[in-house]
Amino acid sequence: MKIETKAVHIGHNIEPGSRDVTPAIHLSTTFQKADDGSTPGGYLYSRANNPNRATLETALAALEEGAAAIAFSSGNAAAAAVFQALAPGDHVLAGEDVFYGTAMLLNDLLKPWGLKSTLVDMADLQAVERAITPDTRLIWLETPSNPLLHVTDIRAISAIAHKANAMVACDNTWATPLLQLPLQLGADVVMHSVTKYLSGHTDVLSGALIFKQENDFYTKVRSIQTSAGAVPSPFECWLTLRGLQTFPYRVRAQSQTAQHVAEFLSQQPEIESVHYPGLPSHPGHQIAASQMSGFGGMLSIQVKGGRAEAMKLAASVRLFTHATSLGGPHSLIEHRASVEGVNTRSPENLLRLSIGLEHVDDLIEDLEQALKNL
Ligand SMILES: *Cc1c(COP(=O)(O)O)cnc(C)c1O
Repeated sequence: MKIETKAVHIGHNIEPGSRDVTPAIHLSTTFQKADDGSTPGGYLYSRANNPNRATLETALAALEEGAAAIAFSSGNAAAAAVFQALAPGDHVLAGEDVFYGTAMLLNDLLKPWGLKSTLVDMADLQAVERAITPDTRLIWLETPSNPLLHVTDIRAISAIAHKANAMVACDNTWATPLLQLPLQLGADVVMHSVTKYLSGHTDVLSGALIFKQENDFYTKVRSIQTSAGAVPSPFECWLTLRGLQTFPYRVRAQSQTAQHVAEFLSQQPEIESVHYPGLPSHPGHQIAASQMSGFGGMLSIQVKGGRAEAMKLAASVRLFTHATSLGGPHSLIEHRASVEGVNTRSPENLLRLSIGLEHVDDLIEDLEQALKNL
């Protein structure tokens, strides 16, 4: 079945009583047991499970072509559960440009708990091999990465990891399963900030993990979620399922518009560089083309000059909203360094663009008038 059909149908079972075509929202936190104490509906208590969450998990597993999925209250909660399912003393390798929230989890939360981690340039396969230790249990990938759109070869890193008996987790938030299927390329776990493209309307905070196999590691993560309780509400699950139905169409449009915007910006004299894997000049273009079916709706630019020029451009656009986050219908522009704070790796003249669902001509016209203002 194709992804557009899965997005509409998987998990959407008509309920026998009411026959709702659109599912109901199940707010109950507890579920009636049978006389013998069993749970005939399969539900006990909402921290452990809920019908809206179960439906969402079924849909997410199908979209990523995995065996099982677990939905969380945020992308970071999902990432934290993966790390917590390892043991103190284990070692994690992550990209040196990993999402700053993931790096903060590793440093601030899990290092004191005993989890070791090293950040490495994932494009340098020899450096990755050298950074592996006997304790390395997990390689954490994010491709394309944030905010410089570095591309990691998922097949090559998975081969290195598996040779060392380590797992691979891939943050697939930016690419989405429409454009990239990490589990098919060798990864063992996919992580999503569902907050972004999958829910897609900038009104849900949620995360997810999708597992290639329903194995012991999956069971461990599931038990961490059940005991620690980082679950999304039934309403958030319902909103996410609603957004998921249109996600292939949204992401395809956003990706096509981003390609045009990247080509336009790369010809403007006020712009020093454009980071977008769909440009043949991008260092990761070949690898991206071999593992993605499109290059995504995210790009970043470096404005000639410095922080002041970048800020001026962000203040001069009218259709783009100056705000953080990504993946919604509204195009956003953001000065990354000021969001990430003192430890940022983002250049001061960098702006990150999340392309929305507006018409490409209007977005280009908006950027044109803002560039004239510089
Ligand atoms: C937003 C984001 C996260 C964190 O997700 P939250 O839902 O904000 O917790 C992780 N990785 C990437 C690539 C993101 O864009």
